[in-house]
Amino acid sequence: MSVIKVPEADSAGWSCANCNVELTMQHVELEYLDSLFNVELPACPQCGIVLIPETLALGKMNQVEHLLEDK
Ligand SMILES: [Zn+2]
Repeated sequence: MSVIKVPEADSAGWSCANCNVELTMQHVELEYLDSLFNVELPACPQCGIVLIPETLALGKMNQVEHLLEDK
């Protein structure tokens, strides 16, 4: 499975509000349109919370839809 990288999702400067530790880039499985995608996103190494940037929620998912349509 290919990993979707989101240039806008940079872990630099982000920290978890709960644990107060810096987020690290992790491969996260996202379910969307009945498909599972592997997306590289900043996530908290302690509690596992994942930062989903607004750009991903709004824009990148459109790209994913296009990927699906191209199949
Ligand atoms: Zn945390």
